[in-house]
Amino acid sequence: MTTHSPQASLVYSKELAAHDMGPNHPLKPIRYAHTVGLMEASGLLESPNVRVVAPRPADREDIERFHHPEYVDVVHAIGSGMIVPGMGEFGFGPGDNPPARGLYDAAALSAGSTIVATELVTSGKSRAAFALAGGVHHHAMPARAAGFGVFNDAVIAIEGLAAQGMRVAYVDIDCHHGDGVQLGFYETQRVLTISIHESGQYLFPGTGHTEETGRADGLGYSVNVPLAPYTGDEVWLEAFEAVVPPLLESFQPDLVFTQLGIDTHFRDPITHLQLTTQGHNQAVRRLGALADRAGLWVAVGGGGYDLGAVARAWTMDLAAMAGFNLPERIPDSFTSVPVPPTFADQPPPDPGAAVTSQTRAFAQESVRQIRKKVFPRHGL
Ligand SMILES: [Zn+2]
Repeated sequence: MTTHSPQASLVYSKELAAHDMGPNHPLKPIRYAHTVGLMEASGLLESPNVRVVAPRPADREDIERFHHPEYVDVVHAIGSGMIVPGMGEFGFGPGDNPPARGLYDAAALSAGSTIVATELVTSGKSRAAFALAGGVHHHAMPARAAGFGVFNDAVIAIEGLAAQGMRVAYVDIDCHHGDGVQLGFYETQRVLTISIHESGQYLFPGTGHTEETGRADGLGYSVNVPLAPYTGDEVWLEAFEAVVPPLLESFQPDLVFTQLGIDTHFRDPITHLQLTTQGHNQAVRRLGALADRAGLWVAVGGGGYDLGAVARAWTMDLAAMAGFNLPERIPDSFTSVPVPPTFADQPPPDPGAAVTSQTRAFAQESVRQIRKKVFPRHGL
């Protein structure tokens, strides 16, 4: 009898879904529980290629790889229910980052889930690992909460990998620019960051332009692919294909770290791209093939505010990591959030020829700028 380790690990426990940001906040951590419910109902979690691993909280030393101690103290005080004068300077207040009891523990557990995912692949226990509750913190800055992000799990985890001498490619397909992660590695060529997003001309955080290419040693190692509102699958995937595979093949990472935000979805309430679950999943499958060459693949979640799109897309993504064939239809037993009858969006939205032509022209200009400003630094 032979035993072999599962191909894919899902890092998850119920505690990750328990934090409540209030009824009017778009980020609903309960989405992780819905997603895992759909994974379960689909038989995916019974696959011999999938195992579920519980996270542990990141400790202070991990968190301070990126965040200032004074900021960490403020998050801790807010999480204990204290009123912290001047918390606005650290990004907390009404809006995206309201102060909430339990905030420190929730953010530390989310960051810890991403660290556990990196450990699962670097130790050889898994080929791929998916930390559902990571990634959404990609806007968090060293001393400031931003865009729902508190502790930037991706920077924290990748800093740990870089300290072991690993070369990491970070690819962020969230609808928003991954500004916090870009900042974390802006002056190094050990970590290549690529973010594909709705242009900052139209969407928070307002950055992620093609001119942002890194600084000092890091020049050419920060890459941004801004896209126009209403960009759909076809144009999105063309831009992805033009930029991501050549850069990853040239960079030759030891590990590919992917942020799989699904706020690009056409039903997402806070953004304007027009992707489908199957368009998103096609990109994730392509990233998996590119990660295969590196050997190690860490995936984190990200944005995603249409709960039915989140549950379907991330179930499809974990299935891709584990080589599991999902049924076409959503199982009848899954009723926790309203979803269309199939995993794929059928029929997909049709942006029409005029919109497609405009979004394609915008995407092609972004690709042209990247070819001019970034590709020569990589011998391309
Ligand atoms: Zn986002």
